Amino acid sequence: MQVLKFGGTSVATAANLQRVAQLVETAAQHTATVVVVSALGGTTDALIEAGRLAAGGSAHYRTQLQRLEDRHLGVVRDLLPISEQSAVLSLVKTHCNELDSICDGIFALGELSDRTLDRLMSFGEILSSRLLAAYLKAQGVAHLWHDSRQLIRTDSRHGFATVDSETTNQQIQAFVAAQPCQIYVVPGFIGSDAQGVTTTLGRGGSDYTAAIFAAALAAERLEIWTDVSGMMTADPRLVTLARPIPRISYQEAMELSHFGAKVLYPPTVQPVRSQGIPLWIKNTFAPRMKAHWLK
Ligand code: ASP
Repeated sequence: MQVLKFGGTSVATAANLQRVAQLVETAAQHTATVVVVSALGGTTDALIEAGRLAAGGSAHYRTQLQRLEDRHLGVVRDLLPISEQSAVLSLVKTHCNELDSICDGIFALGELSDRTLDRLMSFGEILSSRLLAAYLKAQGVAHLWHDSRQLIRTDSRHGFATVDSETTNQQIQAFVAAQPCQIYVVPGFIGSDAQGVTTTLGRGGSDYTAAIFAAALAAERLEIWTDVSGMMTADPRLVTLARPIPRISYQEAMELSHFGAKVLYPPTVQPVRSQGIPLWIKNTFAPRMKAHWLK
């Protein structure tokens, strides 16, 4: 068993999703694979913005939501053969209608609670993971999509929920045992509390979702696929001479991510470290570049 997580840039467009599907298909030939997906790049920020506009009494939230809907529908049209599109287009529309109703409610009340914000943000990962699953299906690749809210149990601290590891591990293990499959596709970032209310794991939390699955399944490896090749000596957007660090310890990785290395969400390290699971950071756009790993 292995866990592969793809970040927002890796799934930002139809072409990128196709590349991801290819990487997944190849990787899953070797062992059963859980694929954790972030929202299409920029989606979470756009959802938060829509919620804030609605709460602030600005009807511009509708434009914002329309843009999001158009983007996802556009990806479906670019991604899938015409014969496969209609079911997925209507799935996207159903989710977007729900999103509209939630934002209408926020607008009417002039109030956006953390609980409602979690609900809003959850649509990003639900949609992106559905799109990847739809493409795998169109390619004839057997897989199982599952809503990680049914597996990841958290407390009710909205926006930054704490995971109940015992229940979560049990639920993940029971699910995989009951439904054996070579490829599982799940949305990152989201969970639910004991009442079934949607929660989120903190911004950037899809990495953490992946680590939770890896630890629960005693995976042989966790791979974080992103747009850089590993942890760097400095922020590559600021320092042109930044270099990938070939190999670092869990401890150093945790420190680097705490001090601002954006490549890894800090809580990710703990679950894999506790089980000694190697964590690789790989570049979706240069998969042949030497990967980097922590031990
Ligand atoms: N989509 C969420 C965010 O932008 C979670 C993630 O991408 O890891 O924070």
